[in-house]
Amino acid sequence: MSRYQPEMDDTLFLLRALQTPQQLQALPAHAEVDADLVQQVLTEAAKFVAEVVAPLSRDGDEIGCRHEVKDGFGHVTTPPGFKAAYRSFCQAGWPALSAAPEHGGQGLPVVLEAILYEMLSAANHGWTMAPGLLHGAYECLAHHGSDELKARYLSKIASGEWLATMCLTEPHAGSDLGLARTKAVPQADGSYQLSGTKIFISGGEHDLSDNIVHLVLARLPDAPPGPKGLSLFLVPKFYPDGSRSAVYCDRIEEKIGLHGSPTCVMRFDAATSWIVGTPGRGLAAMFVMMNAARLHVALQGLGLLSAAWQKADAYAKERRQMRAPGRGKSTVEADLISEHPAMRRILDTQRVWIDGGRLIAYRTALELDIAKHHPDTARRESAQRWCSLVTPVIKAAFTQQAFYGASECLQVLGGHGYVREWGVEQIVRDARVAMIYEGTNEIQAIDLLVRKVLPNGAASLATLLHELRQDLDASHTPDAQALHLLTTLGEANHELVSACARDTTLAYWIADDYLRTVALTLLAWAWARVEASLRTTAEQGQVDRRWQAPAQALRHWVLPEFDMRLQIVLQRCRSAATSAGI
Ligand SMILES: Cc1cc2nc3c(=O)[nH]c(=O)nc-3n(C[C@H](O)[C@H](O)[C@H](O)COP(=O)(O)OP(=O)(O)OC[C@H]3O[C@@H](n4cnc5c(N)ncnc54)[C@H](O)[C@@H]3O)c2cc1C
Repeated sequence: MSRYQPEMDDTLFLLRALQTPQQLQALPAHAEVDADLVQQVLTEAAKFVAEVVAPLSRDGDEIGCRHEVKDGFGHVTTPPGFKAAYRSFCQAGWPALSAAPEHGGQGLPVVLEAILYEMLSAANHGWTMAPGLLHGAYECLAHHGSDELKARYLSKIASGEWLATMCLTEPHAGSDLGLARTKAVPQADGSYQLSGTKIFISGGEHDLSDNIVHLVLARLPDAPPGPKGLSLFLVPKFYPDGSRSAVYCDRIEEKIGLHGSPTCVMRFDAATSWIVGTPGRGLAAMFVMMNAARLHVALQGLGLLSAAWQKADAYAKERRQMRAPGRGKSTVEADLISEHPAMRRILDTQRVWIDGGRLIAYRTALELDIAKHHPDTARRESAQRWCSLVTPVIKAAFTQQAFYGASECLQVLGGHGYVREWGVEQIVRDARVAMIYEGTNEIQAIDLLVRKVLPNGAASLATLLHELRQDLDASHTPDAQALHLLTTLGEANHELVSACARDTTLAYWIADDYLRTVALTLLAWAWARVEASLRTTAEQGQVDRRWQAPAQALRHWVLPEFDMRLQIVLQRCRSAATSAGI
């Protein structure tokens, strides 16, 4: 079974296409980050991923995590090698890559951290879940924690010495966190006693770090019902005096995949905790890290898809079956699977999403850096707009493609894909969850259309489309198809906005189709950027041939979906107008 290899040349090419070093150097916080530093950091990251993390993926799946109760507490043992790999990860300073220097971090850009996590997820999704939660916890505490909590926990979380969890979901409260019932009762000393049960908590208990810091959404006794009544609390597994908190891992879930990550049922039994931020602002405190967390899940999707593609591509270049059409006379009786159009189409289509998707995701990570550090207010605002609109689109579209595209890659191996040996079936199983967690894909679509596009009459999306058009114009050879999609989507938005104003349920029926139209428009833009960059750099020749097949597949097999989706959206808008007698 071939192991995942980070696709460093592609990544560096895409970063150059986005003029990443120039963009970063415009930010005072990253003025020192040049192309050499970017390459150096990512090359080291790729080495660590390939040598240390990737080899553990199969055992992570087959042996998985084990739960047992000892001394009244649930203990979780992670798969062989996971703990040692995590220790090496911390020793090399990877958890602190983008954390602030005053908290012991390296202060490097978010875009580098995002690519590190893409590679880690591709190599070993289960293992990566553990450190993947650190960054949200770090940001949350850095923005909202009291000085005392920061002093006690921030540098430990930044360095990865202590891992963290996000305890949101409850048995009856999933997408609708406003239904959460976990209680926090104030104590005379300013602490709170937390009681309740959280489910599906990734890394709720394990043996990777000496302590675990739980961030828990809970309700104060006098809190109003719904999301505004939620506050955020911190409770560690071990308190500073070494005593253990009343936090119990009662069970870990049996799942179809992601066996290397323990998904825990956590019981809080009057556990002493401290509030993070203001009462009633718990969800807002978590939203600090939402765009970055969803970007990471989008990149998880792309990473897993590229891992599945690598296996399918390698197999298709070895296996021979039947003669492929149009191959002419040959001494061989059968051609490579990679020569058969049906299989070529599958492989090239996944590359459309991997390559174009990476460009969009890396740009989103860069925009997060710009939103944080750019000296110009207008530029920070436009970066914020990009992140707000594009993040739900890529979370949903890339995780959907990861699962369905990995299943297509499995098809390339025929029956050999369905059996364990080649490892593609593990990727299909592991990838499925990314469509569910960090806000389900349906919630992403509603977030985009109902919360972000419609409230301002699609004005913010129109601005984004305008910026994309300007970006293409700047390349001097604007891509006709990308421009067509930008115009068509912009025009359709007018009809959509007025139809949704007449029929208040309409948006909820068509949100998923609408999100696909935006995703495909972004993909067309991304490929136009890639092709423009190929034309204008000295890297033609070898690089050119590598990118040609997916560039064609984009036009033949991927972009036609745009018209189909838009038709679904507009037909529903028109039938809503007809039933309203308009
Ligand atoms: C492996 C794994 C790890 C996880 N890790 C964590 C973690 O670390 N911390 C944590 O707090 N949670 C975690 N979760 C929980 C995850 O975030 C939830 O499963 C997710 O938010 C969905 O909630 P639910 O499962 O209750 O589904 P529900 O909310 O009950 O949804 C069921 C279905 O209905 C749809 N739906 C719900 N509401 C709407 C709506 N308004 N409009 C349209 N469709 C809707 C959903 O999209 C979904 O398809 C994890 C889950 C898994 C499986």
